[in-house]
Amino acid sequence: MELQNTLTAYEQERFTECQNKVASGLQTCFEVGAALTEIRDKRLYREDFNTFEEYTQTRFQIGSSHTYRLIEAAEIKASPIGENISNEAQARAIAAVPEEAREEVMAQVVESGPVTAAAITEVAATKDDGIERDQNGLEVPANVRPLWDKAYSESRDMLFAYSSLRNKFKKAVKEKDSIFCEISHSENIGLLNTLYANAKLIAPYALCSKCKGEQDLGWSNCDLCHARGFLSQFAWKMFGNV
Ligand SMILES: [Zn+2]
Repeated sequence: MELQNTLTAYEQERFTECQNKVASGLQTCFEVGAALTEIRDKRLYREDFNTFEEYTQTRFQIGSSHTYRLIEAAEIKASPIGENISNEAQARAIAAVPEEAREEVMAQVVESGPVTAAAITEVAATKDDGIERDQNGLEVPANVRPLWDKAYSESRDMLFAYSSLRNKFKKAVKEKDSIFCEISHSENIGLLNTLYANAKLIAPYALCSKCKGEQDLGWSNCDLCHARGFLSQFAWKMFGNV
């Protein structure tokens, strides 16, 4: 059976109510982020927990990168451009834009409307200020940019997560915390050091020395960067000057 195009009065009422719930639900991430910021900054968790990460993990089962995103979203909302930001996806999109370019990007997005995360990303990509340069000052070509940005944010999240965990174990050693008595701290810290070093291999450092991320130079078949167009700092040091 096909639904009628026109909503009945009852459907219209339900639609409005559901829509309001979605809108206010999407808004709550800012309140959550602001509350987390206050708890963190004033160390309100201190009676029962040693660190903020330990508190959020134990009390709410949320990892550090999720916590960090909520806090970042609240910071964006509280900033001058915040009045036009209405959900976490938009906050994340504008957070990815260099701070000095955010106001201009948002002004343009608002003008062309409607404000969506995709529109923010799209406008940001056209800005000169949004030009990403590698460690050698070379502009990252547009075809390389999506993977470059993804690698950058993935590695940042991982490095943050691993270093938080490593700090946890180091702290346990320092405080001789008995709940960890069956664990070999040196082994765990060693594993986390390895994971941390591996996450650094994801981080983009410089355009590939062989293909420079350019199609003409064989970017999509490049065996040095594996068609990423860029190298990590480690690979750059090893192969950057060949
Ligand atoms: Zn290459």
